[in-house]
Amino acid sequence: MRSIPRSIEQTGDEDKTRSLWADAWNNSLDRMSTPVAGQPDQDVATFEITTRLLKRVEDAALRLEVKPLDNSVIGTLAERSINAFNTSFFGTTSLIVVHSHLLIFIHLLAKAICLCISAKAPEGILQIGVKPPRKQLSEGTQRLSELLCAMRDHRDPAAALAYIAPVGWFLWHPVYSIVDCMELFVVAHEYAHLLMTKGEGIFSPEYLNATSPHDEEHSADLFAQVTVIADANPADIYLAVLSPLLLFKSLALMEQESILPPAEGHPASSQRLELLVQSLTLLATRPTPRTPLLDMVGVWSNVERLLEDAWAMAVENIRRRHSK
Ligand SMILES: [Zn+2]
Repeated sequence: MRSIPRSIEQTGDEDKTRSLWADAWNNSLDRMSTPVAGQPDQDVATFEITTRLLKRVEDAALRLEVKPLDNSVIGTLAERSINAFNTSFFGTTSLIVVHSHLLIFIHLLAKAICLCISAKAPEGILQIGVKPPRKQLSEGTQRLSELLCAMRDHRDPAAALAYIAPVGWFLWHPVYSIVDCMELFVVAHEYAHLLMTKGEGIFSPEYLNATSPHDEEHSADLFAQVTVIADANPADIYLAVLSPLLLFKSLALMEQESILPPAEGHPASSQRLELLVQSLTLLATRPTPRTPLLDMVGVWSNVERLLEDAWAMAVENIRRRHSK
């Protein structure tokens, strides 16, 4: 794993940050290259993260009155199934590689898109779903295009330039929350598959029953979305709602532009997004209206438009660079 090289671009002004960042990167690579005793396909870093995420999924499941899985099933999940989702879009079977790539991919994606969908109000409050100032937007679309090229040309997000943002960067909080929500979502989705395989009922009110040919995938997505919301810190609920939508929208745009191959074994990301938004809208209105959730679905439509605009600019950046 030492072979993942990263070119570092300093965007803050502290030299110390640069060496701290490089040390953290090397340390992570070491941990992602060390197998867990008795589990040659699993690395220490992934195992630790997975265990922690599983615990959170189980706590949320209990609160949602879903009977959790027993330990032997969880062992299977930690060992193999966790990457079913990831493998489909990175086209690789190595757990170690897949997990580290997924983390890097999601992290870079969150950093780029947060720049494109938010603005700082004069009082310093961060507003998501608001058009960013021109300079911030062009920085965001530039990074998005670098990530897209890394995925298209190398199938490796680490091929994108690494920017080190300063410690007090105004987007750190949403970036970390989004990365965290997306990871939890992936684990909860796989957990739902195991629940369904075991014949356990999962959270799925009658009115949410999808009519799509991929019912099981949709149910797993919905379970994962509700888990992420149930797990969230109350101040971050809006990010818990938006994060899975951001992930699917980004994947859908990448599939549409052939930067990623069409999803294998899962419905197209655009369809998963559509069904998830429909379900959230239903949850927000039945059996009684839940105004905060309804507001968040409203914010999503702003975010989606901003993301589409930023995406078009990023794709245009790539075309211009190629035609030079
Ligand atoms: Zn699935």
